[in-house]
Amino acid sequence: MTKTPFPVDGEISFRDALTKHIDLTSPISKKMLTAMIHLCEAQPDKALLEEVVKNKSTKYDELFKQNNLGLLDILSVVPSLRLTPDFIFQKCDLIMPRYYTIASSSLAYPEDLTIAISLSRFEVTLPDTGEKLIRDGLVSGYLEQIHKSHLAAGGNGPIPDTTMCFVKDSNFVMPATHDVPILMVGPGTGVVPFIGFMQEREKCQKSDDSVQLGSASLYFGCR
Ligand SMILES: Cc1cc2nc3c(=O)[nH]c(=O)nc-3n(C[C@H](O)[C@H](O)[C@H](O)COP(=O)(O)OP(=O)(O)OC[C@H]3O[C@@H](n4cnc5c(N)ncnc54)[C@H](O)[C@@H]3O)c2cc1C
Repeated sequence: MTKTPFPVDGEISFRDALTKHIDLTSPISKKMLTAMIHLCEAQPDKALLEEVVKNKSTKYDELFKQNNLGLLDILSVVPSLRLTPDFIFQKCDLIMPRYYTIASSSLAYPEDLTIAISLSRFEVTLPDTGEKLIRDGLVSGYLEQIHKSHLAAGGNGPIPDTTMCFVKDSNFVMPATHDVPILMVGPGTGVVPFIGFMQEREKCQKSDDSVQLGSASLYFGCR
């Protein structure tokens, strides 16, 4: 059993656990590194991890935080580590859900749902070789791959993978009538939820001539 159960019914293969559920790229906690010490076969690797997890040691920041390492990169720090199935199932974190704001109006597009995603990217430096890797954000990178292969298949083919998702109610609610002026402020979410607002106003106006739209202003920030 993992500390959090896998979100699947029944048995799960190692391949599925490692490729679909276990978080291999997020920062590794000191707690997890502590649990790895006795799984290192070489004494210098054990000693290194003991130093890394010590209170007030700067080694954790130097080796793990500054290099942006995840579990995927651990052998670059302690090559003699031998992770066991028990460890993988009991100690490793599962991938947490990422949230994406629905960018389309269900009134204007009842059969489709649009999301707008910006691809996260960060640099990983492998301590043993100094090699620098550009790593895509786990979920935005995965969705980018799906999107690319969908486009490569002409944009009309079946989506080449399935993924688990759920819908959460939004805090963004449009005024009850469209004549009310709206002020849209998107500091964290950007413009995404407001694309749906605009689609909904347009749809309502097109389907009923008597609908009067109030003014709409959008403020958002870009980094
Ligand atoms: C309510 C809500 C709505 C959102 N709506 C949208 C939306 O509409 N569109 C959108 O694009 N995003 C949205 N987001 C953000 C989105 O949920 C994700 O956080 C984003 O896509 C990044 O996820 P990821 O899995 O691609 O990247 P992750 O793999 O989670 O990486 C994200 C960042 O974490 C850091 N990081 C990752 N691993 C390491 C490591 N080992 N060491 C150090 N740093 C690391 C890096 O800086 C990296 O760029 C929303 C978030 C919330 C909470």
